[in-house]
Amino acid sequence: MKQEKNTAIVLAAGQSKRMNSRIQKQFLEIDHRPVLYYSLECFQKSPLIQDIILVTGEEMISYCKKEIVERYNFTKVTKVIAGGKERYDSVYQGLLACEDCDYVFIHDGARPFVTEAMLERGVFGVQETGACAIGMPSKDTIKISDKEGFVQSTPDRSRVWSVQTPQIFAYSLIRSAHESLRRKDMTGVTDDAMVVEQESGVRIRLVEGSYQNIKITTPEDLDIAETFLKKYKKM
Ligand code: C5P
Repeated sequence: MKQEKNTAIVLAAGQSKRMNSRIQKQFLEIDHRPVLYYSLECFQKSPLIQDIILVTGEEMISYCKKEIVERYNFTKVTKVIAGGKERYDSVYQGLLACEDCDYVFIHDGARPFVTEAMLERGVFGVQETGACAIGMPSKDTIKISDKEGFVQSTPDRSRVWSVQTPQIFAYSLIRSAHESLRRKDMTGVTDDAMVVEQESGVRIRLVEGSYQNIKITTPEDLDIAETFLKKYKKM
């Protein structure tokens, strides 16, 4: 029987407008290594992943090849390619670059604390329908606001999740969902589960990530990340 091929698409083409820094958030350092290093290390180590496509800004391709892929010997990175204007454009470029892939793990390079255990839960979760998103039940009560900033409704907290990455999909499902939505309107699409929600009737399994699996977005997230890293290292 043919072994399934799992490809990771790691996204690092964002401009980091909320970070107020000249350096994009995925290249800022925590404990002397770029944020992006940590998720690549996890995918490199995991026996579940066969290859990695790194998507970055055109101007960062040679830096990524030399200072990250070669320097840390990430041998599973087979391609470093240019992303696009929006996150969904970068994902689409990553999908086009995949070769003979059965399942794709789409991950934000700005989330350094993905673990091999999460990848295992993801592989298990995707088997049911071909679509799986990592996330955590919300600790906060969430309010939906109206356009004027007044509370419109309060969803039942026991069913509210904060969604993270990686998100894992059967390759043919996610590629056709992206292609279909690209022909319509991608405005407001912030993750890939949304693309599947809008373009197919496929149910998306939610599986637990961790509360540490934060996305580095604003400067205080770097302090939190340093703290997590110190704690991990002691363990
Ligand atoms: O902007 P946001 O926080 O949603 O970005 C999530 C991830 O997507 C980051 O790792 C970022 O580098 C990536 N991204 C990208 N291409 C874009 C925008 C974001 O690869 N055009």
